[in-house]
Amino acid sequence: MKKMFAFAAALTASALLFGSCGLINPCRECGARPSRGFKTDSGTVYYCEHCSACSICGSTGNTTLYSTLLGDLFVCEDCSGQISDVTDAIGGLFE
Ligand SMILES: [Zn+2]
Ligand SMILES: [Zn+2]
Repeated sequence: MKKMFAFAAALTASALLFGSCGLINPCRECGARPSRGFKTDSGTVYYCEHCSACSICGSTGNTTLYSTLLGDLFVCEDCSGQISDVTDAIGGLFE
C-alpha cells in the first residue's frame, strides 16, 4: 500500500507540474483529480493519469484518446508511432 501511495503521489505531482486544465474536472472513470482533458467528437472528456495510461505499454503522460466500439482507449506517442492502424491494434488486444 505504501508503494501504491508513493506512486499515486508521484503521478499527482507530475500532473500538477505539466498540466492544470483538469484540476476542476474529475476523472470520468474513477472521479480522481487532477485529470487531463481529451478532445473527442462529442466534446472534451477528462481522465486521470492512471485511467488514461497507454492500453498497449501502460505508460502515462502523453497518450491520445481513441473512441472505439470497446469504449475509450488510450495509446501513447511511442506506441502510435510503431503501429499504422491504432484501432486495429487495440481490437487485436481483446481477441
Ligand atoms: Zn481515473
Ligand atoms: Zn504505449
